[in-house]
Amino acid sequence: MLDKAKQILEEYFGYTSFRPGQEKAIENVLANHNTLAVMPTGGGKSLCYQIPGLVLDGTAVIISPLISLMKDQVDSLNSIGINAAYINSSLSNSEQRERIDKLAAGHFQFVYVAPERFESADFIHALEFTRLSLIAFDEAHCISQWGHDFRPSYRSIIPNLKQLSNLPVLMALTATATDHVIEDIQSLLGIHSEHQVNTGFARENLNFKIAKGIDKKQFILDFATSRSEESGIIYAPTRKVTDQVYKLLKEKGYKTARYHAGMPEAARKDAQAAFINDETPVMVATNAFGMGIDKSNVRYVIHYALPMNIESYYQEAGRAGRDGEPSDCILLFAAKDVQLQKYLIEKSFMNEENKRQEYKKLQDMTSYSHTNRCLQRYILDYFGDSNGPEKCGHCSNCLDEGERADMTKETQMILSCVKRMDERFGASLVAKVLKGSRDKRVLDFKFDKLSTYGLLSHYTEKEIMNLINYLVADGYLYARDAKFPTLQLTELSSDVLKGTTKVYVQAQPKDSPKETDYH
Ligand code: ADP
Repeated sequence: MLDKAKQILEEYFGYTSFRPGQEKAIENVLANHNTLAVMPTGGGKSLCYQIPGLVLDGTAVIISPLISLMKDQVDSLNSIGINAAYINSSLSNSEQRERIDKLAAGHFQFVYVAPERFESADFIHALEFTRLSLIAFDEAHCISQWGHDFRPSYRSIIPNLKQLSNLPVLMALTATATDHVIEDIQSLLGIHSEHQVNTGFARENLNFKIAKGIDKKQFILDFATSRSEESGIIYAPTRKVTDQVYKLLKEKGYKTARYHAGMPEAARKDAQAAFINDETPVMVATNAFGMGIDKSNVRYVIHYALPMNIESYYQEAGRAGRDGEPSDCILLFAAKDVQLQKYLIEKSFMNEENKRQEYKKLQDMTSYSHTNRCLQRYILDYFGDSNGPEKCGHCSNCLDEGERADMTKETQMILSCVKRMDERFGASLVAKVLKGSRDKRVLDFKFDKLSTYGLLSHYTEKEIMNLINYLVADGYLYARDAKFPTLQLTELSSDVLKGTTKVYVQAQPKDSPKETDYH
C-alpha cells in the first residue's frame, strides 16, 4: 500500500519524496491505526490524510474549524481531478441537502465539514450509509480544553462519532500542541503513543527577533520602507491600535490593508483578497486575521505589542514563510504591553482557575521578550520539543554580538535583597529598595534598614527592573503567582550566590523613547 501512496504522491501531487513525518503518518493510517501527526505549519499535513484518502476505498471526512480554508482545499483537489466537496453553513439549505445525499451515495472521495456538522442528525444518518475511508481532525488542538483555541463543538463530536457502527480510522493533525494537549488528543481519540508522529515544531526558515526600547511607529515606517516589495502582516493588540497603525502607513503612502472584527464583512473580505493577491503588500490586523489564510509568501510578521501567550504568538508569527523561504518574526516589546494583556485577562469571562493559567502563560510570553537564550529554542522548550540544536544561529539573541556584561555582582545583590525581603514582594518594590528609594512602601516596611538598601543606587530603577526581568526569564529568579508576581529564589540563585555560576547579560538600550500610547 505504501507503494501506492508513493505513486499517488508523484502522479497527483507531483512530488518526488515525502517530507519528514509524512511517510510514517501515512503508513500508520494505512495500517488502520488511529494516528496523531504533529508537524510545523507548512510541514505538509494535508497530504498525510489526502494520500490515505486516495489509497483507501470510500469517503474521507475532514473536520476543520476553518471554513475559509475548506474551499481552497476542495478547489485544489478538484483541480487535480479528485472528487471533493465541503458541506458548511456558507451553502444554502438545499445545497447542503444535495451534498449530504451525494455523500450518502458514495459520490465523494473527500468531504470537508466544520465540527458543528456532527450536531446534525441528518448528517450522522448519512454518514452511517457511507463507506468511510478515514476521519481526520485538522487543527486537532481545538479539541482540548488545554489548547489555546479550545472549541467545545470539536469535543462534542466524539460521543456522536462513537455511535457510528462504521467508524473508520481516525487521524488528528496539529502544528501547535503542548504535551498536555497531545495527551488530551490521544486519550479522546484513542491514539496510542507509538502511533504519534512528531517532527517537532522548529521552523528553520524563521528569524525571530525582539526589538525593545524603540519608537514603535518609527520602527514600522522604517521597516515598511526597507521592505516595501515584500508581503507582511503587522499584528496589533486592539482594533484601535490596528486603525492607528493602518492610518500611519496609509498617510505615508504605503499600500496597506486592514482587518479586524469591527469592520463590515465586505470590507474585511476585500482587505483579505487584496492582501492575498499581492495588491496590498502590508496587512495591519488584530488576531482575528489569519486563521485559514493560506498565503505562502508572507516575508515578515511584526507584533506591535506582546500577544497573550506563546501558542498564539507562534501560530501568528508562523504565518510567515510557509514556502520555506527565510522570513522575519519580530516582536516589538514595551513593558506596559504586559499591563494591557493583564487587563484583558482580568475582564474576560474566564473562571479564576483559567485566569490563573492565562497569567502563567502571559508570564512565559513576557519571559520570551527578556530571555538571553536562543528565541527559537525558548519556544521549542515551551512546547516540550527537545529536538534540534541549542541555538538556531539566526534569531536576534543568537546574532547579538553586542557586549555581554558580567552582571554576577549585581545579580547577587538582587538575589540577597529578594531573600532579605522574605521572598514576598514583586520586582518593582525590590528595584526601589536596591535603588535606595524613599517610596512610602519602602519606608513603611522599613526596607531602608536592610543591608541591601541602595546597593544599586548608581542604576536607574528601570535598569534594575530590566535586570530582574531577565533573571526571571532565564530562571535565576522565580515569579510566583503570575497575576501579582512575587519573586522567589531558585536552585540557580543559590549557585550565583555561592559564586559557582556567573551571569552575563546583553547590553540593554539605556533609555527608551516615549512609547506609542493606546489606552
Ligand atoms: P500544513 O497544513 O502542514 O501547514 P500544507 O499541507 O499546507 O502544510 O503544505 C504546505 C506546502 O507544502 C503545500 O504547498 C504542499 O503542497 C507542500 N508539500 C507538502 N508535502 C510535500 C512534499 N512531500 N514535497 C514537496 N512539497 C510538499
